[in-house]
This record gives sequence, C-alpha cells and structure tokens, in this order.
Amino acid sequence: MKQASIEDKLAVNKYTIDKDVHIKIDGKICKTCDKHYCLYACPAHCFTLSNGGITFSFEGCLECGSCRIVCPNRAVDWTLPRAGFGISYQYG
Ligand code: SF4
Ligand code: SF4
Repeated sequence: MKQASIEDKLAVNKYTIDKDVHIKIDGKICKTCDKHYCLYACPAHCFTLSNGGITFSFEGCLECGSCRIVCPNRAVDWTLPRAGFGISYQYG
C-alpha cells in the first residue's frame, strides 16, 4: 500500500479561519534577518520570501509553534486561535 504524502495528509484537515490573526510577524525585524529559519521550519509553508522580505499567511497554520521557537529575533507574536477556530485534523 502506498504511503500517504504530506500533501495527502494536509488535504484531510479542516480549517475554520478566524478574522483575528493568531500569529503576527514583525516585518521590520524580518527585513534585517539573514537567517530566515521560519521558511524551513514551517511545515505548512506559511512563510515565503518575496522582494527580500517575508510574507506570512496564517490561514494554513498547523499550530505547531515551530516558527516561534526557531526565530532568533523574537519577531513572531504567537498565540493559538480562539476556541472554535483554526485547524481540525483528520477530516478525510
Ligand atoms: S520570522 Fe524570525 S527567522 Fe523568520 S525572517 Fe523573521 S526574524 Fe527571521
Ligand atoms: S505555528 Fe507551525 S504551521 Fe503555524 S505558522 Fe508557525 S511554523 Fe507554520
């Protein structure tokens, strides 16, 4: 039996998007950062590099907390989403 890929597993998750953003990054700090650990640590690819700066979109967040842990510059303001919002796993 073929093992499910990460993409297959992510596809069975359900997201309830909140209008309140639960993770914010400080773009000014990110502009001075040359490490960009968040790009490699986020399993959902919520961080992207564009025009030398970091773009962040919280909608696909898996709530793992990795971005907060790996950022050496404390640029990530991290909380869980409000109750009833965010990711629900394994809805496939
Ligand atoms: S979130 Fe942290 S690691 Fe990522 S670019 Fe910003 S300062 Fe650098
Ligand atoms: S908490 Fe995890 S999934 Fe969400 S943005 Fe941070 S690293 Fe990505």
